[in-house]
Amino acid sequence: MKIICLLDMDYFFAACEELRKPELKEKSIAVVTDTSREGSKGVIMTCNYNARKFGIRSGMPASIGLNLCKELLLIKEDFKFYEEKSHEVFEIVRSFSSKVEQVSVDEAYIDISDKVSSYEEALSYAKHIKETITSKTKLPCSIGVSVNKLMAKMACDAAKPNGLKLVKQEEAKEFLSKLPVSKLYGVGEKTKERLEAMNIKTVGELASTNKMLLMEHLGNSMGLELYNYANGIDESEVITEYETKSIGRERTLKKDTTNEEDVIPIIKELSKEVIEEAKKEEYLFKIITVKMRYNDFSDHLKSKTIKPSNNIEDLQKIAIELFKRYINKEKPLRKVGVRISGLSKSTKQKGLGMFMR
Ligand SMILES: [Mg+2]
Repeated sequence: MKIICLLDMDYFFAACEELRKPELKEKSIAVVTDTSREGSKGVIMTCNYNARKFGIRSGMPASIGLNLCKELLLIKEDFKFYEEKSHEVFEIVRSFSSKVEQVSVDEAYIDISDKVSSYEEALSYAKHIKETITSKTKLPCSIGVSVNKLMAKMACDAAKPNGLKLVKQEEAKEFLSKLPVSKLYGVGEKTKERLEAMNIKTVGELASTNKMLLMEHLGNSMGLELYNYANGIDESEVITEYETKSIGRERTLKKDTTNEEDVIPIIKELSKEVIEEAKKEEYLFKIITVKMRYNDFSDHLKSKTIKPSNNIEDLQKIAIELFKRYINKEKPLRKVGVRISGLSKSTKQKGLGMFMR
């Protein structure tokens, strides 16, 4: 049976701040970024649960946060520290499973299918992961456990904060049905409005809407995706970044940017480095993955599969294509990576060698 966990650290940046100054736990705190503009108090990235009681949320300008709570303590982000803590967390996670897809600095899917053989075992394995993280790092986290990535994510959201929740296959539809559509993964503000205009307010109502009608109103790919999600269906695999058979290079940009043109030469360069290493080992590659990490530390991985190749033009062309197609132009990019996998030994070269002898 397939069992996926979604681990999400609770109010991560603020929890890191509480870790080094425990007295902050009693206060309402918010970690802010983008304080460089004159007159701006910055934007809230994360806040602790004391602050949330006042209605403070991430993405909110800090000035609004202060209006909601006069005592709100603003702390300027310290990404370096959070990345260190994140590294500690994921070292622990990877000791429990090698199939880990990190989606941001504080969130990862963990495939534990080959570690457990029942829901009971899955729940106790996840509990063990959670307890180990909390005892070793002293940071709070939540874990959702279910049969696919979507359901694990939805279970985790319901478990937060400091929770653990299992949703079995047979419970999935019932679990989703009463949630407002806005809680469903993939439904943003605009989509929520469109669905409400179709008189769809709950996930259950979405699940029983005609698939064709949704595709007509939301576009084919989104319509189909949300229809499947509403029904608890998600066949996407956990993309393991640390697959042994892969070659990758990443680079943190000198300055966060939203300008594609700044990044393309870096992608070309990374591709060149990757190809050089592949050629040394006589590898052909089949899968090309581009990783984009934004300044809010969310990661985006996009892959394409081609016929086996060791050609640098193929790699550069597809890496740039993926980048241009999937880059989120609204968020400054912080880091970019290029990786090849699906590697095989180049038999053509071996063959030629044999003829020459
Ligand atoms: Mg989190």
